[in-house]
Amino acid sequence: LSGAMAARDRDPQELDRTERDDVGDQVRQHHKQAFEYISMALRIDEDDKGHKEQAVQWYKRGISELEKGIAVEITGQGERFDRAKRLQAKMTTNLIMAKDRLELLEKVLSNSAQRDIYTDNTHQSYPNGHLHSVSGAIPKKKDPLTHSSHSLPRPKHTPKTSPTVAHGHQRSPSYSGPSVGGAARPAPHCTSNIKVSTFGSRQNGKPATPAVNPLKKRDMKNFKNVDSKLANLILNEIVDSGSTVRFEDVAGQELAKQALQEIVILPALRPELFTGLRAPARGLLLFGPPGNGKTMLAKAVATESNATFFNISAASLTSKYVGEGEKLVRALFAVARELQPSIIFIDEIDSLLCERREGEHDASRRLKTEFLIEFDGVQSGSEDRVLVMGATNRPQELDEAVLRLGKAPTVPCIFSFLSEIFCIIPFRMTEGYSGSDLTSLAKDAALGPIRELRPEQVKNMAAHEMRNIKFSDFVESLKKIKRSVSPQTLDLYVRWNKEYGDTTA
Ligand code: ATP
Ligand code: MG
Repeated sequence: LSGAMAARDRDPQELDRTERDDVGDQVRQHHKQAFEYISMALRIDEDDKGHKEQAVQWYKRGISELEKGIAVEITGQGERFDRAKRLQAKMTTNLIMAKDRLELLEKVLSNSAQRDIYTDNTHQSYPNGHLHSVSGAIPKKKDPLTHSSHSLPRPKHTPKTSPTVAHGHQRSPSYSGPSVGGAARPAPHCTSNIKVSTFGSRQNGKPATPAVNPLKKRDMKNFKNVDSKLANLILNEIVDSGSTVRFEDVAGQELAKQALQEIVILPALRPELFTGLRAPARGLLLFGPPGNGKTMLAKAVATESNATFFNISAASLTSKYVGEGEKLVRALFAVARELQPSIIFIDEIDSLLCERREGEHDASRRLKTEFLIEFDGVQSGSEDRVLVMGATNRPQELDEAVLRLGKAPTVPCIFSFLSEIFCIIPFRMTEGYSGSDLTSLAKDAALGPIRELRPEQVKNMAAHEMRNIKFSDFVESLKKIKRSVSPQTLDLYVRWNKEYGDTTA
């Protein structure tokens, strides 16, 4: 009380400064405390000694300190504020890592406590953090909480659990299209799966600005924290600026399109409308059997939205940029933040984020961890307008962590494009054909008229003399071009979707 009274007598500017200093001190204090607690936790967690339960307690204390520090409100300008904010950003990264480690440790503990973890799905929810302010800052190597390496190594015994994200498979009543495969199959409910919550929303974020692709205005060398060589590589090889696929080129997949509109395209074009409860998810997973337009849909998104589109196949991340993968991932997210609104599209994401395995190659494990850390950064409430979109035809093989992405299944269905063009092919004959099967079929049938002719005739005939494609051409082609996805395989997707898919549509 006497302190407060003394403060009242001081000149207002000085008072202001003192309070600001206090705020900075508070953050530092929490950081220091968190550092001590988490160091304790790590000592127990990393050296297979001591009681792991104690490590859990230390992690929790550390996490609580970090959260308190992050929650300290810093308003104002100047070097002190910047420093405190930077520290908060660092603490945010630490928080994500600490939670990640705590979660793994808890799983390990519960795994050993109860033999049959497969019957237990209660340990699956990933903490998303409860941050007040998050910056997308890239953690620096020297941060005490991250030890010597950028990413904390994970405990060796990651349990293999079957995660459950959302239940409740529904058939869309509006699905009147012809059926594919057997009796039980997914309706083309491709849901937006947005967890409707203000968490991670941007309502307090930057003032809404019209989405403009700022790529051309940028000086490539000006990216913060990014090596200019890597930035160039990303801009030249990964940023996709020339996609020509449009939404209407993708046949069917109406609900996947709707999800993409809601989560990706409209928020990128009209960010000011998608705030608060409407704040879109930061991640999206397109999954479904091969050849049904997942990659096509992603390209259409690149064309339709005004966001900077980073298109990278996970296979090239793991093979082409061997050894550089980790750095590249970090740089990728940093550049995406700089050029926001951004969409990072990772095709074949299963090869990057397959389930963590014992004896897994070190480099790929590091790459995966790095990706998940960056993804967490994007997800957990930051104001950055960066969306991560993955596509896979092997959802079953994904690491449970990636299931935090919202999900939009693409389903095999009979595509309208064939019926529109030819109007002659009964759907039943192509039951179970994927989009790419149908494309092959149409291409093959289109060669029917040519095949009737000798090469000499073809060389000399006028284009208008060529006969039209007939039903019989399709019948012939159907003998050769078979469905590429078996009913059994399709059923796997149905079951996976039932178990893990977000099916809110
Ligand atoms: P994968 O899981 O094997 O990567 P995918 O779902 O990404 O498959 P795409 O690469 O998008 O499939 O499709 C392959 C080709 O099949 C496309 O280039 C296109 O010619 C055709 N195709 C597939 N689905 C559709 C569709 N819905 N509309 C139009 N064409 C399609
Ligand atoms: Mg594909």
